[in-house]
Amino acid sequence: MSEVQKMDYTIGKKIRESLQADCQSCFGLCCTALNIAASSDFAINKAAGTPCPNLQSNFSCQIHSKLRDQGFKGCTVFDCLGAGQKVSQTTFHGQDWRQYPETSEKMFRVFPIMEQLYEMIAYVAEAISYKVSSSLFNKLQIQLEQLQRATELEADALLAIDIPNFRLPVNSLLLETSEQIRQSLIRKFDNQKSSREYDYRGVDWIGKNLKGKDLRATDLRGSYLIAANLQNADLRGVDFIGVDLRDANLRGADLSTSMFLTQMQINSAQGNHQTKLPSHLKHPSHWE
Ligand code: SF4
Repeated sequence: MSEVQKMDYTIGKKIRESLQADCQSCFGLCCTALNIAASSDFAINKAAGTPCPNLQSNFSCQIHSKLRDQGFKGCTVFDCLGAGQKVSQTTFHGQDWRQYPETSEKMFRVFPIMEQLYEMIAYVAEAISYKVSSSLFNKLQIQLEQLQRATELEADALLAIDIPNFRLPVNSLLLETSEQIRQSLIRKFDNQKSSREYDYRGVDWIGKNLKGKDLRATDLRGSYLIAANLQNADLRGVDFIGVDLRDANLRGADLSTSMFLTQMQINSAQGNHQTKLPSHLKHPSHWE
């Protein structure tokens, strides 16, 4: 194994797996900072900067064990990847907005920015865990370091970040990673075709029956798979960036080497213990 391949595994995989929310170190920011409209995922309207009425004084949720039953399914789907504790403990040095209300307005505006930085870090760290070319690896590593440095900025500097501009180079690196990895997989099982023939970006497969389908190495970026039946489908090597998987049936599906799949996507879908997931993702407790 070359030095680059070794680095992929030890750095990228380790960082990706470390991105976990620690709600006990967070000041309930996802329950306070965000604007949430009432829907089947969230039972009430909640304005940005207003604490959810279920948030307790110690920043825990008083209906934590019955969120789904009480119409707050979205709360069991959300995953900040650790952005909440970073804002609470690093950016604002452990000063919570209840005790220091003068910090609240800024803290609530910083949280969505940190959340997006963490999302990009997760994607780039995952990309580095793949056996990409050394030039791409180097570019990914520089990008990762830039994102990590950004998370250490003071609150005002974080608020000044132009997130859409930050996303542009990240997106192009992730696309390049996806192309390289999927092309190498396609060569293994269908060397007559190019990765372009596996391009289903943005496709509308809402409610479609794809039971047992072989979709290996398909690019499904930005596609709609809401309530699609993917039971026992082979989804290895599929690029899942931005795919809407709400209520998709993933029972028995193989996603063990799916790319850029997130815990939020998995939490929003239906599955069971036969569903195979990448090592950095967990089977949600609400699955059968
Ligand atoms: S219902 Fe609970 S988890 Fe959901 S926003 Fe309110 S306090 Fe947070």
